[in-house]
Amino acid sequence: MINTFVHSQPNHEGFFGDFGGSFIPEQLQAIIDEITQAYQAIRQDPEFLAELARLYKHFVGRPSPIFHAQNLSMKYGADIYLKREDLNHTGAHKINHCLGEALLAKKMGKAKLIAETGAGQHGVALATAAALVGLKCDIYMGEVDIAKEYPNVVRMRILGAKVIPATHGRKTLKEAVDAAFDAYMTDPVSQFYAIGSVVGPHPFPMMVRDFQSIIGNEAREQFLQMEGCLPDNLVACVGGGSNAVGLFTAFLKDEAVAMHGIEPGGRTLNEPGEHAATLTLGTPGVMHGFKSYMLQDDEGEPGQVYSVASGLDYPSVGPQHAYLKELGRVNYDTISDDEAIEAFFELSRQEGIIPAIESAHAVAYAIKLAKHGEDGSILLNLSGRGDKDIDFVVANYGEKFGIDDIT
Ligand SMILES: *Cc1c(COP(=O)(O)O)cnc(C)c1O
Repeated sequence: MINTFVHSQPNHEGFFGDFGGSFIPEQLQAIIDEITQAYQAIRQDPEFLAELARLYKHFVGRPSPIFHAQNLSMKYGADIYLKREDLNHTGAHKINHCLGEALLAKKMGKAKLIAETGAGQHGVALATAAALVGLKCDIYMGEVDIAKEYPNVVRMRILGAKVIPATHGRKTLKEAVDAAFDAYMTDPVSQFYAIGSVVGPHPFPMMVRDFQSIIGNEAREQFLQMEGCLPDNLVACVGGGSNAVGLFTAFLKDEAVAMHGIEPGGRTLNEPGEHAATLTLGTPGVMHGFKSYMLQDDEGEPGQVYSVASGLDYPSVGPQHAYLKELGRVNYDTISDDEAIEAFFELSRQEGIIPAIESAHAVAYAIKLAKHGEDGSILLNLSGRGDKDIDFVVANYGEKFGIDDIT
């Protein structure tokens, strides 16, 4: 039996098994090495950890509760629980790593945080953290996402951040990553690239994972206290993979706990460019500075991807997930756009909780597990709230769900 917990730390070059590492221009490596060293120092610094704990509690509102969704449980025949990351300040799990990265950048004497954002959630969380710790903030965002997630663009600007559109290609998350990386290369000394998920070169997959593991650490203790046992199943959506690995990490050594990472199946899995099911349909390769599974085009370049959830449409995935897939520790599966939207309304109408469309992928899979006779309990990570998505959902799916008379 492989003890995956032992294997949850990358080696000193940042590899989880075959995946991860640092594939970046040489002149950048020295700067990234400084970040690694600074992070290795602060992760054991009681003062830093106390400051982060204070912010998690009093600024974010942690611990986020676990809610037993009794209506869903009754209807589908399995106990379904929600880890309520949607209740965090700024409405999603991303604030957990943004605060960590902002504190680290401040400690290292950086002047500005920069980042890409898809749904705008990472941008809002980072702009929030930048305002709090007193750093400047530039956010790169695809033009398509700017239109789709406009309220988040306004939030970032109110918080004092600059929003810079990425105007090439599909004008979504992948292009925003390119634009942010180019900007970073012009001045990697005074800027800190606050990567928005467990992706990028070492140490980011490990560092962001560590900051997000508060989710699973809390959830494991809370569930034990509520039910006197561990959940039988964990479910989380996987874009880059931060909320999923944040939930999973505390449970990796609990062999009886099954884990399900849910990728966006988009419109169809049968055509490239119509989904972002990286682990399900991708192949190993290198992009954005790390090795993992990726969706590649015929030239080996990052392929085009699509999902109804802006936060999930990324052509690669965190290297630790690639490793967990190869170990067989986590089951990776997909949920389509239509199934996610169905679940978006189902959770809203059964439990009075409007989820982010990203999180609705996890909700849909939990319902599927329950329907298919999974009689064990299911703890799903409700990674964010749906406020940002309501206009888009009503405009595109309102009629189907009986909301056709809004003017
Ligand atoms: C960004 C986002 C995701 C996807 O990112 P991960 O790194 O895979 O967690 C999921 N849910 C919400 C609400 C998000 O904002």
